[in-house]
Amino acid sequence: MPLPPTFEVRLTEKRQLSPAVRELTFERGDGTPFAFEAGQWISLILPRVEGELRRSYSIASPPAGSSRFQLAITHVEGGPGSTFLHELAPGATLTAVGPQGFFTRPLDKTGPSLFIATGTGVTPLRSMIKTAVAVGHGLPMWLVFGVRRESDLLYRDEFEELAQKHPHIRFEPTLSRGSEVWTGRRGYVQTHVPDLWHALANLGLGAPHAYICGLKRMVSTVRDLLRKELNATREQVHSERYD
Ligand SMILES: Cc1cc2nc3c(=O)[nH]c(=O)nc-3n(C[C@H](O)[C@H](O)[C@H](O)COP(=O)(O)OP(=O)(O)OC[C@H]3O[C@@H](n4cnc5c(N)ncnc54)[C@H](O)[C@@H]3O)c2cc1C
Repeated sequence: MPLPPTFEVRLTEKRQLSPAVRELTFERGDGTPFAFEAGQWISLILPRVEGELRRSYSIASPPAGSSRFQLAITHVEGGPGSTFLHELAPGATLTAVGPQGFFTRPLDKTGPSLFIATGTGVTPLRSMIKTAVAVGHGLPMWLVFGVRRESDLLYRDEFEELAQKHPHIRFEPTLSRGSEVWTGRRGYVQTHVPDLWHALANLGLGAPHAYICGLKRMVSTVRDLLRKELNATREQVHSERYD
């Protein structure tokens, strides 16, 4: 397999999405369009004084024929890569490698979809959902998004607006440490998967597919639940792990 291309990127904008997450907008140094598939990721080479690091990030924006793209990065306490990126100043340039990865959603092969994410695991799913909307692909897309608190719900306004405009999109946030004023779902994402999976299967629109992204513990738990208890086939379950 050929090596993924290496190119220069420049940080153009930074935006705080939640207390721990910043969105970084980059553009290709040569201004040419960045071609990738929704769900893919890139590696960034981080030239720290203490030594170079390489870290991977899912592309949060949909492919749009532009030289610009977005990443959403959780600041991990004591984590050298995410600390470096949170501190990076607009105008800085880095070397990127990619696009890479097979966690994609070919629209001609998928079905009604249950998207399951925790934290910044929602970013490749955002890219997939926006891509399907852009081309008018109308199969149901239901997103179960787990975070601790309401303030951690990155891209909340955007997902709520998408769900309001498009009846085939549902946004189902769930909080593991929601305050008493929270009236939505509570607990870990896996609590909500069985009912939503059955409901999707019963729509009569074909076999549902699951797209799961986040840290290993959640991804393995949800994969096991789908495969062993809900009898999903290997082809129906797609996942990406961040650790
Ligand atoms: C394919 C792929 C895509 C990724 N996409 C993203 C992304 O879009 N956004 C993003 O923030 N991270 C993403 N990551 C994780 C990222 O590459 C780094 O691992 C993360 O930024 C931590 O690096 P660090 O050097 O700060 O900390 P490290 O010291 O390397 O990691 C410390 C620990 O942090 C935990 N951790 C890693 N990622 C996260 C996270 N996102 N949220 C909470 N805890 C985490 C892990 O348990 C890890 O062991 C992705 C990883 C992979 C493999």
